[in-house]
Order: sequence, then C-alpha cells, then structure tokens
Amino acid sequence: MGPAGAGKSVQGNLLAKKLGFIWISTGDYLRQHITEQRKAQMSAGHLISDQEIIQIIEDCLTDITETGKLIIDGFPRTIDQAKWLVDQHKKNRFKITAVLNMEVSKDIAKQRLVGRGREDDKEEIVDKRHNDYEIITKPIIEWFKDEGVLVHEIDADGSVDETTQIILNKLKV
Ligand code: AMP
Repeated sequence: MGPAGAGKSVQGNLLAKKLGFIWISTGDYLRQHITEQRKAQMSAGHLISDQEIIQIIEDCLTDITETGKLIIDGFPRTIDQAKWLVDQHKKNRFKITAVLNMEVSKDIAKQRLVGRGREDDKEEIVDKRHNDYEIITKPIIEWFKDEGVLVHEIDADGSVDETTQIILNKLKV
C-alpha cells in the first residue's frame, strides 16, 4: 500500500521476480481491461467501485491458484475492500502474510510521477489521488493493525535499490 508515486509497482514487480511470487496490480489490470467508463473514472482520479475491484481480484485468484504466492499492489484502497480481504483470510481462503505500507513524501512522489505520461498523473489529478489516499485509504493501515495483520512500515523516499533493501530486511528474506 502507498500513495501514487510511492513505488508500489516498481517494488512489487522486483519483489515478485526475486521471491517467485505473482504480481497483481488492480490499476494495471484496469488499464489492460479498459472500458469507456473505467477510462473516464480513472483519468479523473476517481476510485473504481468496490464491487468491480473485488470481482477483478476474484478473477485473478481463479487464474492463479497453482503457485499460491501473490503480491497484490494497489488493493485494498477502501475499508470495504480491506474488510473483504480480511474476511477471506479468516475463512482460510488465503493467508495474508504481511502488508507493506510504503511511505513517501509528497514532493518526492510528485517528482516521480512527472513525465510518466499517464493521464491521471496531471498535477491536479495527482493532488486529488493523494488527498483521497489520505482520507479513504490510509485509515486501513490502522484497521489492519487492529485486526492483527502484520504491517511493515517502509520508508520509500530513497532510490529503488535502497527501498528494495529496506523491504527485504523487513521481510527477512
Ligand atoms: P494505480 O495503477 O494503482 O495507480 O491505479 C490507477 C487507478 O486505478 C486508480 O486511480 C483508480 O482509479 C483505479 N484503481 C486501482 N486500484 C483500485 C482499487 N483497489 N480500488 C478502486 N480503484 C482502483
């Protein structure tokens, strides 16, 4: 978890390769399965509905049952998505090993997004996404802790290599 520009996808991909995990990104999935409606919502920086997102996770889970090890990037983003996730964990459908909470300063995150060229990376849209992250998504971290989910706080201000090292140290791999 982390705001836009924290490096979730970069680190998620690197970790997945290093640890032999499958990387699932809800944002990436949505961009690959774009519809007019999704495009309009995403380019305005709006979240996609919980129902649609949970269905995407369901579809991904049915596709990849064999290795069993996943890194999920960009999910959950709302408390209802988080509740669904923890509920599935409680039903033993899968085990949440840990949550990586990538913390980044706003200026560094913005610098990283400049030039990426995505429509939702325009300054005012990034501001909205960051604001929504603070209000809607960030409270999930404390809720996870209350639910007994292991949360690792990751300082994601440094270089890609530095951040990877911090994550590997936390995960003890
Ligand atoms: P990302 O690639 O993670 O930056 O996500 C890009 C966009 O996809 C977000 O700004 C949302 O519009 C949408 N999105 C991705 N993941 C979720 C999610 N878990 N819940 C709602 N919307 C999402």
